[in-house]
Amino acid sequence: MTSLRKRVLVTGGAGFLGSHLCERLLRDGHDVLCVDNFFTGRKTNIAHLMGQPRFEVMRHDITFPLYVEVDEIYNLACPASPVHYQFDPVQTTKVSVIGAINMLGLAKRVGARILQASTSEIYGDPTVHPQREDYRGNVNPLGPRACYDEGKRCAETLFFDYARQHHVKIRVVRIFNTYGPRLHPSDGRVVSNFIAQALRGEDLTIYGDGSQTRAFCYVDDLIDGFVAMMEADDSVTGPVNLGNPHEIPVLTLAERVVALTRSSSGIVRRPLPQDDPVQRCPDITLARGLLNWSPKVSLDDGLRRTIAYFQEELAEKSGVQGE
Ligand code: NAD
Ligand code: UDP
Ligand code: UDP
Repeated sequence: MTSLRKRVLVTGGAGFLGSHLCERLLRDGHDVLCVDNFFTGRKTNIAHLMGQPRFEVMRHDITFPLYVEVDEIYNLACPASPVHYQFDPVQTTKVSVIGAINMLGLAKRVGARILQASTSEIYGDPTVHPQREDYRGNVNPLGPRACYDEGKRCAETLFFDYARQHHVKIRVVRIFNTYGPRLHPSDGRVVSNFIAQALRGEDLTIYGDGSQTRAFCYVDDLIDGFVAMMEADDSVTGPVNLGNPHEIPVLTLAERVVALTRSSSGIVRRPLPQDDPVQRCPDITLARGLLNWSPKVSLDDGLRRTIAYFQEELAEKSGVQGE
C-alpha cells in the first residue's frame, strides 16, 4: 500500500489491463484519470468505478496532445490483439509512436514518472529462448505484425531518449501474454477465443498444429508488477520482462480450457498467421531481483476465474458486443 495520494493518468484505462489497473490504483487511495478513445476498450469495464469521486474518465485519442496535471502516467493505450492492431495498422503505429511522444512531452512538462506498457512482441519470432531483456529480437519490419512490433520498439527508443535528453523518469515493462476477466469475448486472442468457443459448444480454433508455445500470466499478477515497477527507485528504468514463465503449447491450453469448462467442443485447425512466433517465454530473473516480483496464480486457477467471468458475460450479452 502506498502512503502518498497521487494523481495518476492511465491511458487505455477502459481496456482489459487498464481497467484492472484503474481499480487497483483507486483501491490504493489515488486519484485516477482514465483516458481512452474506446477503440477496443469498453465503458462496461469501468462502469463499477464511475461513481467513485476519485475516478474521472476522459474520451481522448492520445495521438493528439493532452494537457493535464498528474504525478504518474501509465501509458497503456494501444490495441493489443493481433486482430485489432492489424485492423488499422497505420493508426497502430501512430498510437505507439505519436502517442508516446505526447505522453512523454506531458511527463516532461509536469515532471511525472511515466511507465510504458511495452511487449514481448519486440522480440519478434525469437531465436533465443527464454527471452531475456538483453536479447535484441527478430522482428520482420515489413510483415503484418510490424505496425505493432516496430511501433512498440520505437516507443521504447523514445522513452530512453526522453530519459537521456530531458531527464524524464521512465519505466519500461515488456508484457508477455496476459489473460483474465474483461478480456473481450470477441477480442481474437487465444485465451478469449478458446473460452468463448468452449462455452458456446463450438470447436476450438487452433492455428497451425498447436505446437507453438506461449506463457500465460494472470492479470492480477501483472498489475502487481506494474505497481512495483512504478514504485521502484528512479534508477530502475527497465526494460523489465513481466510475465509467467510457465510455458505451454497452444494445444495444451486448448485441452485445459475444454477440461475446465467440461465442454463437449472438439478442435479444428486453421492456417497459422504469418510471422506467428514459434516459441515465447519470459526470463523473469530481472523482475524477481529488482522488484521482488513473481507471478502467484496458477494457469488452472486463472482460467477458472476467467471462465466464470465469460459465463456471466456470455449469458448477459448473448454474444452481442456491449459498450
Ligand atoms: P486492450 O485493447 O483491451 O486495451 C487497450 C486500450 O487502449 C483500449 O481501451 C483502447 O480503447 C485504448 N486505445 C487504443 N488506442 C487509443 C488511442 N489512440 N487513444 C486512447 N486510447 C486508445 O488491450 P490490453 O490487453 O489491455 O493492453 C493494454 C496495453 O498493454 C497495450 O499497450 C498493449 O500493447 C500492452 N500489452 C498487453 C499484453 C496482453 O497480453 N494483454 C501483452 C503485451 C503488451
Ligand atoms: N505535449 C502534450 N502535453 C503536454 C506537453 C506536451 O501532449 O503537457 C505534447 C505536445 O504535442 C508535443 C509533444 O508532447 O508536441 C512532445 O513534447 P516536447 O516538449 O518533447 O516537444 P515539443 O514538440 O513541444 O518541442
Ligand atoms: N491462436 C490460436 N487460435 C486462436 C487464436 C490464437 O491457435 O483462436 C494462436 C496464435 O496463432 C498464437 C497463439 O495462439 O500462436 C497466441 O495468440 P494471441 O493472438 O493470443 O497472441 P500473440 O501471442 O500471438 O500476440
